[in-house]
Amino acid sequence: MDERRWHEVLGDRRWLVLTGAGVSTDSGIPDYRGPDSPPRTPMTYQEFIRTPEARQRYWARAHVGWSRMRQAEPNLTHRTLVSMQAAGRLTGLITQNVDGLHERAGHRDVIDLHGRIDRVVCLACHQVTSRAELHDRLSALNPGYEDRIGEFAPDGDVVLADTADFVVAECLRCGGDLKPDVVFFGENVPKDRVERSYALVAEAESLVVLGSSLQVMSGLRFVKAAHKRGIPIVIVNRGTTRGDDLATLKVDAGCAETLRAVGVSTG
Ligand SMILES: [Zn+2]
Repeated sequence: MDERRWHEVLGDRRWLVLTGAGVSTDSGIPDYRGPDSPPRTPMTYQEFIRTPEARQRYWARAHVGWSRMRQAEPNLTHRTLVSMQAAGRLTGLITQNVDGLHERAGHRDVIDLHGRIDRVVCLACHQVTSRAELHDRLSALNPGYEDRIGEFAPDGDVVLADTADFVVAECLRCGGDLKPDVVFFGENVPKDRVERSYALVAEAESLVVLGSSLQVMSGLRFVKAAHKRGIPIVIVNRGTTRGDDLATLKVDAGCAETLRAVGVSTG
């Protein structure tokens, strides 16, 4: 880690920050694409909406996963970004994470590009409700189910062999099918979030990417837009990213350790 180079590149410019799964691994939430992660094929939006069996499988695994996901606590990176925001050193925060840990740490005005796992949306009437409330309903419908043991996977998923006995809950308002309020693979990011993110890039003095391999276009396009504007781009990530060629500086390391090394962390 070349600390001097970091300060040369960023100077006293304020940061627009884009975060990915690598920020939350320090909170015990696994990453799809970290260098140590096994390859995974998460359920796509198309699979989810196609059959009741797919939704049953999703909700059974997510029900067990939520019990663990909700216990995750913000870490040094989340806290550092909160104090940087308070000190006026950020111009915005866009996250690809759905865990809500930036908000839990106290961050304001976060753009949750891929939604929030602690919210639920009805596919029929589009009402958004709380995941905690759904969890209680699912627990009542499936007593003891959440004590099942399986490998903890990304996005609050737990690997379970057989989910055929799980009872799924419906929308209390209209009886429609419920989906977590997150953008699945194969689904588009809602347009207003994309536009608000581009607006932040258009005004940005620098872009700092923390813990994302930028494998999906939903995040990479903002790095491309920043590159087009010619502002400094710093990428901190373990392993290569699809934005490495666009970066002014690439740091191949963890987020918390890097923020500590460059002297901005609060812990
Ligand atoms: Zn509904």
